[in-house]
Amino acid sequence: MGGGVSGLWLALRALRQGTPTRILSIGPFGGYASTKNQGWLHSGALYALNEAFELALACRRGTAEVQSLCRGAQPSLIAPHVKGAFVPENAQQMEAVKIRLDAAGIPFSVRAMADVRDADLLCSGNPDHDVLVTDDYAIDTQLLIRRLIAEIRRSGGEIVTAGTVDRMRHQRGLWTIDLDCGSVSSETVVLALGAGLPAFLRNHLPSVAGPEYVVTRSRVLAIGCASFNTIVVPLAPGSPTVVPIWHAGEVKGITICIPYDNEVERCYELSEGHPAMTEKTIDYCTDMLPGLRHQLQSKRPEMGMYTCQKLMLEGESGGQESARLHKVDTLTEGLYSLYSGKMSAAPVAAAACLSKLRSDGVILTADYPNVSDDDEYDEPTRISERPAISIVDRREARKGLSKSARRE
Ligand SMILES: Cc1cc2nc3c(=O)[nH]c(=O)nc-3n(C[C@H](O)[C@H](O)[C@H](O)COP(=O)(O)OP(=O)(O)OC[C@H]3O[C@@H](n4cnc5c(N)ncnc54)[C@H](O)[C@@H]3O)c2cc1C
Repeated sequence: MGGGVSGLWLALRALRQGTPTRILSIGPFGGYASTKNQGWLHSGALYALNEAFELALACRRGTAEVQSLCRGAQPSLIAPHVKGAFVPENAQQMEAVKIRLDAAGIPFSVRAMADVRDADLLCSGNPDHDVLVTDDYAIDTQLLIRRLIAEIRRSGGEIVTAGTVDRMRHQRGLWTIDLDCGSVSSETVVLALGAGLPAFLRNHLPSVAGPEYVVTRSRVLAIGCASFNTIVVPLAPGSPTVVPIWHAGEVKGITICIPYDNEVERCYELSEGHPAMTEKTIDYCTDMLPGLRHQLQSKRPEMGMYTCQKLMLEGESGGQESARLHKVDTLTEGLYSLYSGKMSAAPVAAAACLSKLRSDGVILTADYPNVSDDDEYDEPTRISERPAISIVDRREARKGLSKSARRE
């Protein structure tokens, strides 16, 4: 249950190993984090440099599976030219990062910042500084979701979508989920609800103790400019990450993500939806990425801001990347939860979930060795716009500010 990348990858892997599987999505597929995220298909470099090596490995393996699934798609689901550029603050940090990437087996090259597209546009650093270039990619998250659904259909999976869950109950070894459009039953249910898991358990299964997760929010600024082609990761503390929006075969702009744990007091003091929030977020981003200020002033692109939620292990609010590793939990008889942590790690998280179900005797088939290389797809080519992003005009947003908000 759950129509994001976790549920979809789990369903696909289960079907490919011969386990009859039905996927249930409440609301549209991919309507949550799986399409609101930055669309960064991770090489694992970001996590290796924080010494979260297990997460780095999960991303590396997961990314290879995603690439395999996306092979041959038209338009290309993965931007062919986008690379990662990690910008160290100084030579000492550069050396430390190189050691960690080597330790994680993540390929990289070292280039002058001036030779790397976009890095110098965003970072105010000396263009003679070196930058680490990695195999990180931008992926079209909407088309990825569609491709997963197409594969699930092709593998014989049953797909159910509903508007709401009315009730969920367990009787005589069978879970029954009452929906607004009927009921579905199964001996085993995996809840792959992303950040929606705690609320779902509270509302529908209050007696089930869920995993010790807390919901955390990240702010994402979306800017509609077409000139950025690099994932730029300044390594100064608190820096946002910049990822090109790759959609329907084109770069549509960039997303800039401010993780929940960075400079909390500067970014989170305003409640969600407050008109000054976008302004604050823009100020934060331009302070951290000084080159961006020039870009925004000279080109005046459209921009907007949204919030996206994820789960964090309780007690890990310091932002350790290892707390974002995938997790499979047994909640009660026949009921499991799966959390991927990263879109890039979702295939690996799904494999871990199936391995748990196998060791519990729930499924008896062997795991399939690898994803199929079949590239015969009838891929949808048109999606009007990335729905997760509501673009607002900055000048319009300004007009909406009250005087007190402006002073603030
Ligand atoms: C701001 C941000 C940026 C990120 N950027 C990246 C990135 O660039 N690269 C990367 O690899 N990862 C990234 N991630 C992480 C990634 O987006 C998530 O790990 C991944 O999308 C989680 O997928 P999911 O299927 O578990 O959850 P979701 O995509 O959130 O899907 C959950 C599904 O559960 C269902 N659901 C939720 N609540 C309920 C409920 N109460 N009742 C019924 N159904 C419900 C919905 O159908 C929904 O489709 C980012 C996360 C955030 C927050």
